[in-house]
Amino acid sequence: MKYLALLFIVLGGIWWIRQQRKPDQAPPKKTGPQVMVPCGHCSMHIPHDDAIRGTHGVYCSTAHRDSHEG
Ligand SMILES: [Zn+2]
Repeated sequence: MKYLALLFIVLGGIWWIRQQRKPDQAPPKKTGPQVMVPCGHCSMHIPHDDAIRGTHGVYCSTAHRDSHEG
């Protein structure tokens, strides 16, 4: 009977830990790997979706696009 009580405590602990972990498994806002591209001016890597597109490539900001392409 002593071991049965201990078994319930262990199983209850495992169940409780699983319940606590569930909210942490929230899905990320973007699925799939993020494609990183280098800025044509300073070579800093930025996410492709956030990159500024220019005539000769992509840039991290409009300022770098303007200074690189004129
Ligand atoms: Zn840049």
